[in-house]
Amino acid sequence: MKNLILEMEAYAKEKNVPIMEKDGIAFLMKYIKAHNVKNVLEIGSAIGYSAILMASSSPDVKVTTIERDEINYMECLKNVKKCSFEQKVNVVFQDALDLNLAEGTLFDLIFIDAAKGQYMKFFEKYKYFLAPHGAIITDNLKFHGYVGKSEKIESKNLRQLVSKIENYIDFLKTNEEFDTQFYDVGDGLSVSVRKNEQ
Ligand code: SAH
Ligand code: MG
Repeated sequence: MKNLILEMEAYAKEKNVPIMEKDGIAFLMKYIKAHNVKNVLEIGSAIGYSAILMASSSPDVKVTTIERDEINYMECLKNVKKCSFEQKVNVVFQDALDLNLAEGTLFDLIFIDAAKGQYMKFFEKYKYFLAPHGAIITDNLKFHGYVGKSEKIESKNLRQLVSKIENYIDFLKTNEEFDTQFYDVGDGLSVSVRKNEQ
């Protein structure tokens, strides 16, 4: 397991796959244990780094993770097999915005870590699959320090992407259904819970 994690970190570095930062994944694993999370939905598997570590945080945690990129999906499957987590990690090869989960499927934790420009869409689509006491955690809210400085960014594509993350942060701050806490951990994380469940 330890070796596999190191291997995945090396692969991610070499191929520029944006896996979670160490303190970010540590935060998630701690959250899973502290809140007795059993079922996790992850949007954006990449090579399975965060899915495998979340699944390893306690014996009865199961993770469903969605990936639309075939190369990452294949690599993720390979890594899940290597640590014999086939029963703990279910990898779904599809665009998360096209996937239809069975009605009534509920997750204690939904972790959003896919295309940064689509965060609001993921949130609005998947909140219906969140258990009443559950939380939606979102990664990369700092986006390498660019968030909050979008007007100063010269590249148009980057500026638009960063401004979408800024809009998502506003959406969370002003949300009527969910209360959100922001954490300066890793590349910036948020934890959103339903207002009536506090
Ligand atoms: N959670 C991973 C990192 C994910 S990187 C970890 O920390 O280990 C983001 C991944 O999301 C990429 O592999 C990308 O292909 C995938 N992705 C982006 N948009 C997506 C979408 N709409 N549906 C499914 N996967 C998506
Ligand atoms: Mg991320």
